[in-house]
Amino acid sequence: MKNKLLVISGPSGVGKGTLVKALKDRRKDVTESISCTTRAPREGETHGKEYFFLKREEFLQRIAENDFLEYDEHFGNYYGTPKSFVLETLQKKSVILEIDVVGALNTKKAIPESVLIMIVPPSVDELKRRLIGRGTETDEAIENRLSRLDYELSQQNEYDFVVVNDDLERALQEIENILDAQ
Ligand code: 5GP
Repeated sequence: MKNKLLVISGPSGVGKGTLVKALKDRRKDVTESISCTTRAPREGETHGKEYFFLKREEFLQRIAENDFLEYDEHFGNYYGTPKSFVLETLQKKSVILEIDVVGALNTKKAIPESVLIMIVPPSVDELKRRLIGRGTETDEAIENRLSRLDYELSQQNEYDFVVVNDDLERALQEIENILDAQ
């Protein structure tokens, strides 16, 4: 079977990280790409694990060398998917990219065979309540998250598959079926 490039997106709080981790634990023929970023590592993050942390000049140099499948700027920092890593790994395994909607659509442009999966919550209202209910942020931060959620969900029809994360095991099985389809 041909290895696949699976691009997984979904709103914050929908549980995509848990799904991706469970998929990697279960499937030795699947691995996750590590993105490059110019943001500083957070407490506990390691170079080469969560991200490859690059200096801005290094990142710009790699853009010039066309070494990103896609890249974008978030909160003043660059983030990008390393093309050489993804293409080399695809020779051996399927590769997962966990990126946002813009990154996913740009990946599809660069590699039309990539498979775009959006993870959605069983109840949007319930997710909204949870995003509001964390209680630690300003109204502006909450507003930002909610409008981002609405934007992401509005892009569902650009995706090849929409998977409802109502039950971890069921959603995982659905993703595995996509992975194993010819
Ligand atoms: P954080 O700094 O919190 O780890 O990530 C900030 C944002 O960058 C998130 O929305 C995340 O999805 C996005 N991001 C992480 N890696 C990539 C990437 O390789 N490409 C793009 N386009 N976005 C990314």
